[in-house]
Amino acid sequence: GAKSAAQLLTATNVRALFDSVDAFLFDCDGVIWKGDKLIDGVLQTLEMLRSKGKKLVFVTNNSTQSRRQFADKFQSFGVPVSQDEIFSSSFAAAMYLKVNNFPPEKKVYAIGGEGIIEELQLAGYTGLGGPADGDKRAEWKSNCLFEHDKSVGAVVVGLDPNINYYKLQYGTLCIRENPGCLFIATNRDAVGHMTDLQEWPGAGCMVAAICGSTEREPIVVGKPSTFLMEFLLKKFQLSTSRMCMVGDRLDTDILFGQNAGCKTLLVLSGVTTQSILEDPSNSIQPDFYASKVSDVLELLGE
Ligand code: PLP
Ligand code: CA
Repeated sequence: GAKSAAQLLTATNVRALFDSVDAFLFDCDGVIWKGDKLIDGVLQTLEMLRSKGKKLVFVTNNSTQSRRQFADKFQSFGVPVSQDEIFSSSFAAAMYLKVNNFPPEKKVYAIGGEGIIEELQLAGYTGLGGPADGDKRAEWKSNCLFEHDKSVGAVVVGLDPNINYYKLQYGTLCIRENPGCLFIATNRDAVGHMTDLQEWPGAGCMVAAICGSTEREPIVVGKPSTFLMEFLLKKFQLSTSRMCMVGDRLDTDILFGQNAGCKTLLVLSGVTTQSILEDPSNSIQPDFYASKVSDVLELLGE
């Protein structure tokens, strides 16, 4: 049946949640930071959770940066987080290839940012495209062939602020001329909140372009797909019944947690408002909701 409505996190119910959870999975944008600003109370909350022996994991759909770059971002905020606690969709794409024994002699064409290229490289793969193709142009003339590397065995698509017709043609040829070529989407977020003022086209927009030209559907490795969850469960030997996913988006974060059987906590510090949560057309209900992550700290009175 339908899931019951989300409960506001209170001083009464927070203790049971806290005691029933060994690992907290945090979404990043809208939960830990908003753009380039750390959200109030995050540092103190994470410190408290660590001091109580909770495992912390950070899962972001943002593919434009690598885990190293996200670790630097945490460091710039003075929040101690190590690279192996971070799971970005750029890393997920590289790990999908690794887990599925994608041969390192084959190449990967990327429509996306440097995060994808760096994670591919760290996993032992050669990534083509990405920022390097940002100012290339595809021109067609009669008897002039658009050249592409025939050893490309996978195309990875993520958010690409410099997407152009050259990249679309490259990725399309790789997939259409080689039925065995993998088509991987880092994530399919429809829009991103690059600023507080407006929504911008998300990775779903670039993914849809390649769906349109190739008539193929991608393998999605970011939230809400189960790939990252299965990967980190195996890596850390965690049990989903003792995990809580904390996120600001219902259709990515909360669904990601619920698909795996985790407890879920929605925070209203990002893109979801209380009225979106309570709208009758919304069918995704987290177990709990709170205004921001530091409510956990305040309500516990730790
Ligand atoms: N993708 C891009 C390109 C982004 O800039 C963001 C947020 O900044 C996201 C995805 C969503 O990230 P998260 O999953 O951390 O909310
Ligand atoms: Ca988010």
